[in-house]
Amino acid sequence: YDDIGGLGSTIDQVREMVELPLRYPELFQRLGVDPPKGVLLHGPPGTGKTRLARAVANESDAQFFLINGPEIMGSAYGESEGKLRQVFEEAAKNAPSIVFIDEIDSIAPKRGNVSGEAEKRLVAQLLTLMDGLEARANLVVIAATNRPEAVDEALRRPGRFDREIVVGVPDERGRREILGIHTRGMPLGDHVDLDELARTTYGFVGADLAALARE
Ligand code: ATP
Repeated sequence: YDDIGGLGSTIDQVREMVELPLRYPELFQRLGVDPPKGVLLHGPPGTGKTRLARAVANESDAQFFLINGPEIMGSAYGESEGKLRQVFEEAAKNAPSIVFIDEIDSIAPKRGNVSGEAEKRLVAQLLTLMDGLEARANLVVIAATNRPEAVDEALRRPGRFDREIVVGVPDERGRREILGIHTRGMPLGDHVDLDELARTTYGFVGADLAALARE
């Protein structure tokens, strides 16, 4: 995982939850325990949630399927559910797989707050798909949101996204690691001091540091 800065222990947590069910689903069957199906990552924008999910998929030799919340919501009437189903079918066919749903709050907002029928149907579809995942499916869903409180509670019940991990803003050491990653291929002038940059960029998340390196 050396291309994700400052998230060492977070990565280990996700990996622990995801790798076992992906690689050894028969273990859970033998124990008579349902493997975890869903992990919800939450934290501020640009902290590397997508990057983290990709890295875990890579490391576990799993296929990676990305669903972008706002994008799928923008589909024509009735198309969104179909697209969602399609991705899950593809992922099951190509298992072991990780389905990553970015900005899940836009797909599955609290149903009380939603007026449109289309939105309600999409939440229901997602719940059905999660519930329909077989215990030996080698498929884990990772979802990300900046606003966990805005996600429909039904999604956070056992058997769905019942594991939650906070992806936080990096500290100085994390920032130093991220700066290292994003300047790796760059010829740097002698006056560039990454330690100093890490010290003086309090509050910067990974996306900010990547942008800084580009500048
Ligand atoms: P959002 O919530 O906005 O979707 P995110 O948390 O999923 O953001 P990413 O899309 O993974 O964040 O990262 C955005 C950019 O910042 C990418 O270019 C990524 O390389 C960089 N980045 C973010 N966090 C890290 C990190 N911990 N280490 C290295 N690069 C990072």
